[in-house]
Amino acid sequence: MDYLAGLNPSQRGAVEQTKGPVMIVAGAGSGKTRVITYRVAHLVNQGVDPFNILVLTFTNKAAKEMRERIKSVVGAEAKNIWMGTFHSVFARILRVEAELLGYPKNFTIYDTDDSKSLLRAIIKEMNLNDKLYNVNHVYGRISSAKNNLISPQEYNKNEAILAEDHSNGRGQLGQLYMTYAQRCYRAGAMDFDDLLFKTNVLLNKYPEVLHKYQHQFRYLMVDEYQDTNFSQYLIVKRLAAVNENICVVGDDAQSIYAFRGANIQNILNFQKDYPDVKVFKLEQNYRSTKMIVDAANSIIANNKNQLEKNVFSDNEEGEKIKVSRAFSDNEEGKIIAEAIAQEKSLKGLYFKDFAILYRTNAQSRSMEEALRKIGIPYKIYGGTSFYQRKEIKDLIAYFRLTFNPNDEEALKRVINYPRRGIGDTTVERIIVAADQHQTRLWNIVENAGMYLDGRSSSSVGNFGLMIQSFQAIAKTNTAFDTAMHIAQHTGILKDLYEDKSVEGLSRYENIQELLNGIKEFSEREDIEEKGLDVFMQDIALLTNDDNDKNPNADTVSLMTIHSSKGLEFPVVFVVGLEENLFPSQLSLNSRTELEEERRLFYVAVTRAEKKLYLSYATSRYRFGSLNNCEPSRFLDELNPACLELDFRPKEMKSENNSAFNSERVAWQQADTFTKPKPKVVKTTSILPKAHVPSEGFKPSDTSVLEVGMEVEHERFGFGKVINLEGNKPDIKATIFFKELGQKQLLLKFAKLRVV
Ligand code: ATP
Ligand code: MG
Repeated sequence: MDYLAGLNPSQRGAVEQTKGPVMIVAGAGSGKTRVITYRVAHLVNQGVDPFNILVLTFTNKAAKEMRERIKSVVGAEAKNIWMGTFHSVFARILRVEAELLGYPKNFTIYDTDDSKSLLRAIIKEMNLNDKLYNVNHVYGRISSAKNNLISPQEYNKNEAILAEDHSNGRGQLGQLYMTYAQRCYRAGAMDFDDLLFKTNVLLNKYPEVLHKYQHQFRYLMVDEYQDTNFSQYLIVKRLAAVNENICVVGDDAQSIYAFRGANIQNILNFQKDYPDVKVFKLEQNYRSTKMIVDAANSIIANNKNQLEKNVFSDNEEGEKIKVSRAFSDNEEGKIIAEAIAQEKSLKGLYFKDFAILYRTNAQSRSMEEALRKIGIPYKIYGGTSFYQRKEIKDLIAYFRLTFNPNDEEALKRVINYPRRGIGDTTVERIIVAADQHQTRLWNIVENAGMYLDGRSSSSVGNFGLMIQSFQAIAKTNTAFDTAMHIAQHTGILKDLYEDKSVEGLSRYENIQELLNGIKEFSEREDIEEKGLDVFMQDIALLTNDDNDKNPNADTVSLMTIHSSKGLEFPVVFVVGLEENLFPSQLSLNSRTELEEERRLFYVAVTRAEKKLYLSYATSRYRFGSLNNCEPSRFLDELNPACLELDFRPKEMKSENNSAFNSERVAWQQADTFTKPKPKVVKTTSILPKAHVPSEGFKPSDTSVLEVGMEVEHERFGFGKVINLEGNKPDIKATIFFKELGQKQLLLKFAKLRVV
């Protein structure tokens, strides 16, 4: 069939090998994702029912794009393929099976904020020291237990784990985990890790359910397999056990989620689990120029732990990789913004052909400022989700309560918002009463008259009645009508409307936007169930990328390297290549962590198709103070033959700039970044000999200067005049200095000498 013509022989082999276990471990840009996409299309073309195909991707966005491509080959049937992230696919299955596990069908998905808020409450109740029991640490520990399928009961029986906690002075972690799990259960809520953990419980405990899904998903495919954790690995293994039609693709060199429990071993285990696995090698990179592929190979060669792979490109040689140094993070932004404007006009590109990748979200600020300044449109991916904004979470908490009144985090969030006279003391009383009577908070709220006294009983009771009235409305109304009713009757709309500050206005607009989204959902023709409960189902799993109203807009993309996985752009900027930033300070203690940082760099570099820019700043504001930075060791590791150094000097406002000397030293040292780097120190005057002013420097007399003349400047050294503009006495000279590069000087002040 002609769509198979777009594949090379190995790719085609993997696509046509539809039966039995298949594994592809291959380098970046070699067409792994393309193989999965074509394989699904091929299966459907061969008559496999799309309902029998399950494809697991790393992001919702990737799934969406893949579905679009498959649709272009097989048509509307593509809609019926089970495709999405592990979390979204198994949340969907858990909704069907939840009652078996004692959860309501409308169980809530607690997002990270909900989980942490619950943990904070428990840490307080247990009178634990919240420094020792830092909520992020506790959350991470519980998450890692769940991803290794260690239940609270097992945790508390495991001598080794308990001993480790004890030796760290955190002997109560086991109890904390137990209480947290009980509270989630009582609230009818699952956190993110539960979606995988409970799926495992379901498939393990209920053979008939396992059987059902094993027969439903006759063909399984997993992209980015190197980043699956144990919990995900086991789900896939269980589901594939009967038919063994499983195809996984990945690249060990791109494993970047070990910190979240991902395990490269899953790739190695695959061969043990399925001894008759067919392994396909993909060695040709179709994405990038030779230059970029060479550079990427030179990076990853520094890692000791990796599978042997051969990656080559038949694409054009391509331009060298440009390395830029800036004096500050703001200047780095400026250099990049200018480079985008230049490349765009020079090569006739679109803004959407550019991506700026950084190690940490905080780095986006200086980039954004610089882009805004010269009017370049951009979009930030993977930032705070629309659904994470306070006002949106408030309204959604009411929706959550409507469908699951046991959702305690939602209840605590809005019981007194907008204010209705239910103060902290009353909330405390509700919690105590629930504990005393071994019941849920909602039971106390619903029967406030029985459990609480006086005034608080009536305000709490009224709150309960209001939620009950929402439940009645939701039964018979569309998502939009229910949502609008709730927004009005809770007083949220009014509360935000009355706030006329800029922030208040934007919050009001956000609520409007949410309501508009729900309206669109209510009017969709491709779905039958249009209740608010359906709209709400995986809202907690959406990121701001999924809320992208205009995915084809012509904008530069800004994102962390982690979120750039699997993507590609003609021109890529990897910024902030500095020690302690990239590699991150936290990774410098062990080889394993440093190697993960290096893989991250490899991922970043391999996103580029035609042109790659790398940059670093010699000083940067971090955590509120200005720090001197050294270039990243990763720059040293790149094949120097692939690099072009672009070390422009900073445009100085005045020649008497006091920071000049130290910057200059930094700048001179930066030239030597391939050698060991001495620390940047602030000094007053260590101008090299050649620059010590000799006699004859004086503000230049323009009549003697001509384009092409060689000159020496008192401080900038030797250079050549490349342009003169303006009229006397305000003539500006553009001079290319040997060491500093190009600068513009006002001649009446410039201390120059013709040589
Ligand atoms: P990553 O490791 O970054 O996820 P990948 O191995 O999944 O990369 P793809 O994204 O599938 O690689 O492919 C990289 C690029 O190469 C895509 O633009 C894809 O369309 C193109 N490509 C892959 N195979 C071929 C081929 N046989 N002919 C032409 N283009 C191809
Ligand atoms: Mg891919």
